[in-house]
Amino acid sequence: MDKKYMPEPYKVKMVEPLRILQKEERVEAIKKAGYNTFLLNSRDVYIDLLTDSGTNAMSDRQWAGLMMGDEAYAGSDNWLHLKETVQSIMGFKHVVPTHQGRGAENLLSQVLVKPGTYIPGNMYFTTTRAHQEMNGGTFVDVIIDEAHISDKEDVLFKGNIDIKKYEDLINKVGAKNIPYICVGVTVNLAGGQPVSMKNLREVHELSQKHGIKVMFDCTRYVENAYFIKAREEEYKDKTIAEIVKEMFSYADGATMSGKKDGIVNIGGFLAMNDEDLYYKAAALVVVYEGMPSYGGMTGRDMEAFSIGLKEALDYNYIKHRIEQVEYLGNRLIEAGIPIVKPIGGHAVFLDAKKFLPHIPQSQYPAQVLAAEIYIESGVRTMERGNVSAGRNKEGKEYFPSLELVRLTIPRRVYSYAHLDYVAEAIINTYKRRDEIKGLKFSYEPPVLRFFTGKFEYI
Ligand SMILES: *Cc1c(COP(=O)(O)O)cnc(C)c1O
Repeated sequence: MDKKYMPEPYKVKMVEPLRILQKEERVEAIKKAGYNTFLLNSRDVYIDLLTDSGTNAMSDRQWAGLMMGDEAYAGSDNWLHLKETVQSIMGFKHVVPTHQGRGAENLLSQVLVKPGTYIPGNMYFTTTRAHQEMNGGTFVDVIIDEAHISDKEDVLFKGNIDIKKYEDLINKVGAKNIPYICVGVTVNLAGGQPVSMKNLREVHELSQKHGIKVMFDCTRYVENAYFIKAREEEYKDKTIAEIVKEMFSYADGATMSGKKDGIVNIGGFLAMNDEDLYYKAAALVVVYEGMPSYGGMTGRDMEAFSIGLKEALDYNYIKHRIEQVEYLGNRLIEAGIPIVKPIGGHAVFLDAKKFLPHIPQSQYPAQVLAAEIYIESGVRTMERGNVSAGRNKEGKEYFPSLELVRLTIPRRVYSYAHLDYVAEAIINTYKRRDEIKGLKFSYEPPVLRFFTGKFEYI
């Protein structure tokens, strides 16, 4: 039987009760958190759409895997399982385990990014760019222009690299000053937008011609593969595993946050084909993370991770996940709420500039919108706009074209009824949008300010 939205391809075996605060308590809680949803206590949150990172529900098989943890200091069985799983799914020769994605970004940036180099990428990601800059590199955005236009909905692969922009950069700074290109599959800050196989092939060809490495940020590679299957004609009959294999054939290596498409709560890795890069990264991992056979993860973590990587390739799993996101997005579109289109893979993004047109970007409309949604409903969301973008080397704010609030759907956690509640919360907030005022910083941290910054109403 065909349904528009596929029911959950799993059933509930264990439950975690939710609690919801009274409105006055929510007003107090968000004020105490400095109007930063990152600083709310989880116990004060009803439905948590802050992130899909590490918030996944593991399967019974993964929980069983935890019991199989081999906590030897070196060379545990679980490490071998994880390594072999990554090698067989992605086809890379070497794997360096890390505690999460940014651990891998740290190793990669320390080995390859030298002062004065340029790292092109399809839109920045917060931690990725921070590591590149801390090593003296400059991030250059080479995503297609359409990715910066929130309601440009006829572009099916809004995460694509603009080959012309990439080539122009090579001509301008010289290939020897570009250690690698970082390709996000999917692109988180563009709204979870995918990259086509055709584009990956072209990026690979151009990079090879110039001797530039292609490194994927493959945090959400299964979501990207699903979109390729759904939107790129020649892939419609291929399995997710086949598509994934081909995607990675166009990369020299990848950083991975297992907290996303690994369907676990912690974990990550850096993978590559190049032996020299492997030895350098493995020498650093012992300084920052742990032995090259655990990299900050316990044996049980690694077992759950390797099982999660395999489960994520199941077509029904990924179809349901993407459709949940689509369902929430379509409910908001029907109510006339401005969101990023097409709807992305892991989240629905509200366009805060259009939602709150009376608040200038210097007063952080997305930040205040996230706070107001919490006050309205107890639903926690996240700012992805001027606050997240931070400041450049001259201390100026970036004022990114996208000023968004992200409603991120954790994997296998919430039901369609929860999503209905979320949709109603947004619609109610939209109805009273004219009363909402802007914010200013009361405390601004020097880097990654969105995590711990505090605000007050103007
Ligand atoms: C989450 C994320 C990272 C960083 O991974 P962590 O596990 O949070 O350190 C890097 N890139 C993208 C696109 C991400 O979404």
